[in-house]
Amino acid sequence: MKHSLDILPLQSWINTGDKPLIIAGPCSAETEEQLVSTAHLLANTGKVNVLRAGIWKPRTRPGEFEGIGSVGLQWLKRAKEETGLLTATEVATAKHVEEALAAGVDVLWVGARSTANPFTVQEIADALKGVDVPVLVKNPVNPDLSLWIGALERINGAGIKKLGAIHRGFSSFEKTAFRNEPMWDIAIQLKTIAPELPIINDPSHICGNRELIPYVTQKAMDMDMQGLIIESHIDPSVAWTDAKQQVTPAALSDLLDNLSIRHAAS
Ligand code: PEP
Ligand code: MN
Repeated sequence: MKHSLDILPLQSWINTGDKPLIIAGPCSAETEEQLVSTAHLLANTGKVNVLRAGIWKPRTRPGEFEGIGSVGLQWLKRAKEETGLLTATEVATAKHVEEALAAGVDVLWVGARSTANPFTVQEIADALKGVDVPVLVKNPVNPDLSLWIGALERINGAGIKKLGAIHRGFSSFEKTAFRNEPMWDIAIQLKTIAPELPIINDPSHICGNRELIPYVTQKAMDMDMQGLIIESHIDPSVAWTDAKQQVTPAALSDLLDNLSIRHAAS
């Protein structure tokens, strides 16, 4: 499969030295206190590069918490000012892109449900024209490598050269130990097709529960993935979304200490 990606190496836009890029933070921004206190604990580990938090949450079914909305951008701003962490959030519409950029969010990501829809991806790409911001594209919910590459090409086509892919696993009707099947072979194929593209693993959404996360994380490192995005909450048991898979900042710190990393990220 051919592709036409024109991208900059990860280390040219976030220098993580010889370590993988670590993005961590709550699934959702819930309250200002929850986000800012989690950010402080994560920053204090000295192991996190970017604070993540969903502000606009794409729920599979209606009737659940759909994100705190734009006010959360101000909380991210405060967390950044107080901790020095870069910030990242999910964007799913042109309006999200405009608001997140206006609020100074450092890294944007496209969620798995959005990647599955080329109209949505194109809308996001059009809103990014002329903007210099790193964008990470999650794999689509379904195991379709072309759809993933197509989304990366659309964002890249808008002029975004600080580009990365997030491997968050794939939905299947069969229930297995994983919330989303990792289907590692798809990530391997992406790596083969676009070796220069950084791939960041999202063990939280692959596993769906805290217990499996260390194994998937180690596997991602063994595959020389260049980063991790891990959901971390000050008190996961009361999280408004994805409670079973979030880890405390202390648990995240232990997890990272116990990883064996063979290669420096490049
Ligand atoms: C998330 O990162 O919280 C999220 C909604 O992820 P995904 O798009 O992978 O389901
Ligand atoms: Mn989540």
